[in-house]
Amino acid sequence: MEVTERLWGRKTEATWSTVAGSLFLVSICPIWIIANWITLEYFGGSLYAFFSAVSSDGLIAFTQQYAPRPSLRASIGYACWLVFQATLYSLLPGPLSTGQLTPAGNLLKYKTNGLLAWVVTHLLTVLAATFGLLDLALIANHWEGLLVAVNVYGFLLAAFCLIKAHVLPSHPNDRKFSGSLIFDYFVGIELNPRFGELWDFKLFHNGRPGIVAWTLIDLSYTAFQYQNHGYISNSILIVDLFHTIYVVDFFINEDWYLRTIDMSHDHFGFYLGWGSVALLPTLYTIQVQYLARFPVDLTLPQVVAILSLGLGGYALFRSANHQKDVVRSTNGQCNIWGNRARYIRCSYKTEDGRTHESLLLTSGWWGFSRHTNYLGDLMQAFSMCAVCGFDNLMPWYYFLFIAAILFHRVLRDEGRCLKKYGKNWELYCSKVSWRLIPGIF
Ligand code: NDP
Repeated sequence: MEVTERLWGRKTEATWSTVAGSLFLVSICPIWIIANWITLEYFGGSLYAFFSAVSSDGLIAFTQQYAPRPSLRASIGYACWLVFQATLYSLLPGPLSTGQLTPAGNLLKYKTNGLLAWVVTHLLTVLAATFGLLDLALIANHWEGLLVAVNVYGFLLAAFCLIKAHVLPSHPNDRKFSGSLIFDYFVGIELNPRFGELWDFKLFHNGRPGIVAWTLIDLSYTAFQYQNHGYISNSILIVDLFHTIYVVDFFINEDWYLRTIDMSHDHFGFYLGWGSVALLPTLYTIQVQYLARFPVDLTLPQVVAILSLGLGGYALFRSANHQKDVVRSTNGQCNIWGNRARYIRCSYKTEDGRTHESLLLTSGWWGFSRHTNYLGDLMQAFSMCAVCGFDNLMPWYYFLFIAAILFHRVLRDEGRCLKKYGKNWELYCSKVSWRLIPGIF
């Protein structure tokens, strides 16, 4: 069994291209999500109308007229939302789950009470609406101010994490300094920034202001559609269903999430911080924002086709992710598709010099291709967008975004796995030669 000596954590040194890329993404991503709102709000979702107005008004006049304005109510509301979620995260009971060994050899514990937080949040919202204390369309009606608030918080969060990494790191040996402030701000320095022993920035921000908000925003835009059009379209109900399945699945399997790339390998900076609090709630709900304004009524064959693809994608996604988790948690002593699991037993080193064992599954979905779980995600993302029809590109941004990040992940993850497992990764690639779809990619 070959043990690779090379370091397999995030690359340390920034190059001019990674710095330029970081600067580009930090600038363009917020502009993109704000432009999406302007296009929906003022230009009927038409990109052509949006760009025509930019070119006829000029960028400065256009920005002065259409840029979202901060609102005190939305800012206070958002601050209360963060405090409320932080309180639930801190106080609700939940099992203690274990993450994955970090490159420096740390094995962290996490309180996984996300499902309870999701249930409490949604229950309170529905109860408050039922008793007339809350307008369900509140979020949709205050979207402009919220858009400003989430962006401001996302930028401040990444800045706070950058400073914290220098002055008060949680796990000093799991920090990566690149030599570039911009690159460090973008990708983060600390792998697992925390307050105290258990209060984990990544788990909190991705799960709570990010994923709990996802279905709450859906609910709000569905109410908005009802209030403005007098009915609820089957298309928005199908998106709501797909999103709810995805979100509830995430929280039921919150323990599994601790061993995904986000949690195990990505450091916490703008990419994950701003991404979780600003991009996730605004881009991942783009279909409901679109449908609430421009309802689409699907025919029965369309409903059947979309539901089949989306639910099939979910089954594939869950089954592939489960197979990987179960083979490792049982140390290979399990059946996959009725047969004994096949795997490669391999070793790797952490930076403290210790050697550890791991398994690479080669049967089931992981023998079909090296990232079948991504294929399941892509099928779901496609279905979530297909409900909006093919007339407009905007609701398809979600699918395009997921396709881009998963394609990028395939490449960067395989580079990291090669560093971590060396020859055994090459052996795995020779046994399972396709990355996503056999015969295509
Ligand atoms: P994976 O859960 O596929 O994790 C990849 C890691 O698994 C590798 O780095 C390696 O880590 C380990 N691994 C690779 N091959 C094998 C194998 N054959 N057997 C056992 N372990 C293996 O990737 P992600 O964390 O990116 O994704 C998790 C899920 O989340 C996916 O379904 C994805 O589609 C979804 N996702 C959704 C996103 C969204 O925004 N909707 C964004 C990103 C992901 P190691 O050996 O170091 O443990």
